[in-house]
Amino acid sequence: MTVYFATHNQNKVKEIAKLLPKGMELRSLDDLGLHEDIPETANTIEGNSLMKTEYVFNKHGVACFGDDTGLEVDALNGEPGVFSARYAGPQKNSEDNMHLLLSKLEGSQSRSARFKTVITFIDEEGTSTQFTGIAEGTITLKKSGNEGFGYDPIFQPEGYSITFAEMSAEEKNKISHRGKAFTQLVNFLNNK
Ligand code: IMP
Repeated sequence: MTVYFATHNQNKVKEIAKLLPKGMELRSLDDLGLHEDIPETANTIEGNSLMKTEYVFNKHGVACFGDDTGLEVDALNGEPGVFSARYAGPQKNSEDNMHLLLSKLEGSQSRSARFKTVITFIDEEGTSTQFTGIAEGTITLKKSGNEGFGYDPIFQPEGYSITFAEMSAEEKNKISHRGKAFTQLVNFLNNK
């Protein structure tokens, strides 16, 4: 089957491409000629995930999935959450976002956090299904590593002494929020 991934984020495409089962062909928005920004103005991760995916389905009527991810920090009452991309402002800059988060946590003993991904899949008939993946961990005191993207250099997953940015894409996928949510989508499609 052919599915379209409702994202312009090439880091996400690279991660997911490594998890594709045989028989599933991943196509990008470029293949549809869809180059504009996809709206994500809902106030929940679930809502944004649905909004991104519906945008592609409503325009092109193809089977597609999209994800929305948020980083929830306990000491900040779940911030940045749905605002993770634009935490430090509309420029959506990962360095600025990490800098702001680290400064807000300065001196804090509590550094527990989690990444939450919600993937929405819409089939050719327009039926939507959501899958949630969570990765628990802590926010480090400083950035380490150059792999991955976003907040990866300051997120140390539970049970590890390195950050996501110090792992290969394969290692991260096995335990990551997006990897877990995507595995559920693949199982769902295999049992359809
Ligand atoms: P979105 O799902 O693209 O809206 O992501 C929201 C924000 O979370 C962006 O700033 C991303 O860089 C960040 N983000 C999403 N997924 C990950 C991840 O796997 N690791 C680190 N940061 C991420």
